[in-house]
Amino acid sequence: MSMNAQGRPSAPVADAGAPATGAAALLPAEPLLFEIGDRDHSGVDLPDIEVGNDRLGGLRRKTALDLPGLTEPEAMRHYVRLSRQNYAIDSGMYPLGSCTMKHNPRLNEKTARLPGFADVHPLQPVSTVQGALGVIEELSHWLMELTNTTAVAMSPKAGAHGELCGMMAIKAAHEANGQGHRKIVLVPESAHGTNPATAAFLGYTVKSIDANEHGTVDVDAVKAALSDDVAAIMLTNPNTCGLFEPQVIEIAQAVHDAGAYFYCDGANFNAIMGVVRPGDLGIDAMHINLHKTFSTPHGGGGPGAGPVVLSAALAPFAPVPFVRRDGDALELVEHTEGQHFGRLTAFHGQMGMFVRALTYMLSHGADGLAQAARDAVLNANYIKARLADLFSAPYNHRPVMHEVLFDDTFLKGTGVSTLDFAKAMIDEGVHPMTMYFPLVVHGAMLIEPTESESLQTLDAFIATMRDLAEDAKSGNSERFTAAPVRAPLRRLDETRAARQPRLKWTPSDAPRAAAQ
Ligand SMILES: *Cc1c(COP(=O)(O)O)cnc(C)c1O
Repeated sequence: MSMNAQGRPSAPVADAGAPATGAAALLPAEPLLFEIGDRDHSGVDLPDIEVGNDRLGGLRRKTALDLPGLTEPEAMRHYVRLSRQNYAIDSGMYPLGSCTMKHNPRLNEKTARLPGFADVHPLQPVSTVQGALGVIEELSHWLMELTNTTAVAMSPKAGAHGELCGMMAIKAAHEANGQGHRKIVLVPESAHGTNPATAAFLGYTVKSIDANEHGTVDVDAVKAALSDDVAAIMLTNPNTCGLFEPQVIEIAQAVHDAGAYFYCDGANFNAIMGVVRPGDLGIDAMHINLHKTFSTPHGGGGPGAGPVVLSAALAPFAPVPFVRRDGDALELVEHTEGQHFGRLTAFHGQMGMFVRALTYMLSHGADGLAQAARDAVLNANYIKARLADLFSAPYNHRPVMHEVLFDDTFLKGTGVSTLDFAKAMIDEGVHPMTMYFPLVVHGAMLIEPTESESLQTLDAFIATMRDLAEDAKSGNSERFTAAPVRAPLRRLDETRAARQPRLKWTPSDAPRAAAQ
């Protein structure tokens, strides 16, 4: 244990037992607002109001609202304390594979807060929001330019929503071409869960394609699965093992020859932006997560935005609304005309995120975007190289793209699982990587550093990972199975939390039980 100059321990003592208050250091154990507040008192002092005739048809509440009465400092401190228990990209590295947790530049925030952008309303007359429409038009232009595609639907509000949008365009195109009988969508087994979910949601039958021993998809496997009943393939490139699909062009060709469309999951576009144009590979539709590649906030900071670029074949089926130039003026096409499949959301998309994403693009420039992609790839390969002797990589035959995938072979016989390893990382102050995804490898650990991290941060991360791996192999399994010991809460019953979520507090709940 390290000691300071006065001979006192300078690090927390993990096994010192719970402190009397339940709080650790200056981080208090945080009760629920309902446990802080007193329902018989109120934090504000308002005169009673006379309620005359209401128009609620007898549905007006007869009992009190039963909210805790809180003073302003009580409410303020509760939320500030909670925020201090929250991990964020602004507090440290966030190596979640497939999630692209990159820094959200403050310049983005500054432009998004300009009153002309922040205060527009989607129902304002179009003549008063020409600048905002100009942002949508320009962002659309660069998204099409980066992907070499013909159209882009800007309204989807997440990657998964973009998948739905792209697949609805594919469905509309098949129906318009007398191919509405096509009911099968091919999805490789390494796909993100949203891909099969999207296809199933639209009534398609999902047919899984196995990965080969290199973790990629063989064109022959795709050809064997293609038929007159196949509507589309949904392929992620670079895929969720962090690998560029080497046969993607042949796969696109085979899919088109069979009369089907190629939906590309572009969530991993960060690895190739400015370097590869997916349109050149033969894709028909691809969502781009602005909250991943183009640095708009995500996780708790959202909302997400998932524009979908479309090939010439699918462009006529894009949803409304969209921005159209009419001489000097921009108009918003709101009503379905021609073959557009209709409307996907109430308004035009996430305006605040459009401003942030365009700011990111323009501040990087064409060379800067390509550099960001190359740095993201370099960082992932640096981690791979520095951990290669201690960790086990299932697909080790070539460099990775933006993320590196390990499996749990190196933990064999140690009594430590991928989950235990991740919990021990928390004790070391390192946010865990994505675990148990993709499903194609056992005990997956998927690490995506992004281009944001400095060499110092990467080295600190690598040192922690190496220390943990060596300790696991040397038989110190308790460091892992007992972890986390330094987090405000230890291991929660995640299965029960998912199956029987308790989202409502009732007065009979014991303190903390509701939270856990
Ligand atoms: C993040 C991600 C998605 C879904 O994006 P959301 O914005 O979370 O809906 C889909 N596919 C892959 C590969 C992803 O990484």
